[in-house]
Amino acid sequence: MKINSSEISALIKEQIKGYEADLETDDVGTVISVGDGIAICYGLQKAMLGELLVFPNDVYGMVLNLDTDDVGAVLLGPDKKIQEGDTVKRTKKVIEVPVGDGLLGRVVNALGEPLDERGPVSYKKTRPIERIAPGVMTRKSVSVPLETGLKAVDAIIPIGRGQRELIIGDRQTGKTAIALDAIINQKGKDVKCVYVAIGQKNSSVASLVEKLRELDCMDYVVVVSSSASESAPNQYIAPFAGMAIAEEWMEQGQDVLIVLDDLSKHAVSYRTLSLLLKRAPGREAYPGDIFYLHSRLLERACRLAPEFGGGSITALPIVETQAGDISAYIPTNIISITDGQIFLITDYFASGQRPAVDVGFSVSRVGSSAQVKAMKQVASSIKIELANYREMLSFSQFGSDLDASTKKVLAHGAVLMETLKQKQYNPYPQWRQILELFAVKNGYLDEIPPAKVGETLANLISFLTSTHQDVIDELNDKKAFDDALTIKVRNSIEDFFQKR
Ligand code: ATP
Ligand code: MG
Repeated sequence: MKINSSEISALIKEQIKGYEADLETDDVGTVISVGDGIAICYGLQKAMLGELLVFPNDVYGMVLNLDTDDVGAVLLGPDKKIQEGDTVKRTKKVIEVPVGDGLLGRVVNALGEPLDERGPVSYKKTRPIERIAPGVMTRKSVSVPLETGLKAVDAIIPIGRGQRELIIGDRQTGKTAIALDAIINQKGKDVKCVYVAIGQKNSSVASLVEKLRELDCMDYVVVVSSSASESAPNQYIAPFAGMAIAEEWMEQGQDVLIVLDDLSKHAVSYRTLSLLLKRAPGREAYPGDIFYLHSRLLERACRLAPEFGGGSITALPIVETQAGDISAYIPTNIISITDGQIFLITDYFASGQRPAVDVGFSVSRVGSSAQVKAMKQVASSIKIELANYREMLSFSQFGSDLDASTKKVLAHGAVLMETLKQKQYNPYPQWRQILELFAVKNGYLDEIPPAKVGETLANLISFLTSTHQDVIDELNDKKAFDDALTIKVRNSIEDFFQKR
């Protein structure tokens, strides 16, 4: 049998026509260069921003740069396992993390993989780590308090559910301690907590987790940790992963508290990535979109209207300053994104005024609408009294001849400062804070030497719980002082001072 050439070519043409690519070439690329946790890949024409890529040896990457001929990806695993010329595949998915109640009590990394020895994380659902924040119409204003259990915060800088309140201060000023106390205080209050550790020492995260377990708080907490030893990309995605975990609960109508500890380190990891990806550096060498990075993260914390689920995410981002300089780039950015800040100062911390909250610089722009009335009644004047005290104090250093009214302001201020001191891991219930502040506001402690104030208040509270529980119950019930209750509280406090 003879086959002529025209028949062959017809056959081949027929075959080619019917050929369907199993593999779209757009979905596979080649690694051109790799190093410092960054891979530049050729091909991948259709890659999306933020898309997950698969490299050999089960290393994943995330697309961050889309250039004309290549894409720049950050690696979420060790870059040593990847070589020039390796193939890289698209997954057509953005990065997702496991979400849901299975995460409670767990310590996970930025991808939701377990870091504790408690086996695999059980989950039914995953969520993309990035999402557009809920719009204006789906939100509701802040009106329910989120109590931290700290007098210095709840009385003067109250936080509401759905608020974003920055904790800012130099290193070792008790920033983490405030956030941790806020988490501990959510015990039994039906608020889930997400603690995101970014660029911290593994040992500090471990001791924090240990403390939470010891206090029996881990059953409503999930810790997302991306420690200092992890690559910049992992640190970069950690807060987004934490936020996605929180969002799942918010959409189910639950209240969530998320702590981002801390965003200065997050900014540094993003700067590292951006510089390695050869993006143009801006102020302090941070990339131009650093503000957008943090605002799109923190905008996701909000309170939803009931028709959209009704849950909330309260965010406590933490920022570390250098020598108290709140006008540096990252601090000013985050101050302007958040609804207020708790400013901690080294001098206070060193002199034993802990929590080291600077009442003058700290503010909460929306939280006062969430404060209960009784707290407002006892706390409204504290800020101004302390400002007076501070002013008089600087004057009094010049001369010893003080008139009676100045002496009074100084004595009262000193008592107030003592009242705001509080031990760590010891959050107070609302009624206790209110009663202590009531006693101080009404001058019952002005005669007491400052060093004895803490002890006296503790004695007062134990006296009230043992002999005047009815007054406490009434306060818990009414949550506001009317004339009758005011008299009752006054009488019971006077009772204490007489019997003392
Ligand atoms: P870093 O900058 O290292 O993250 P930080 O600002 O988060 O530090 P913490 O780790 O919270 O500071 O606190 C520093 C130390 O002070 C800790 O040992 C902590 O136990 C202690 N501390 C914090 N708050 C109080 C407090 N109210 N009373 C007593 N000790 C406290
Ligand atoms: Mg800390």
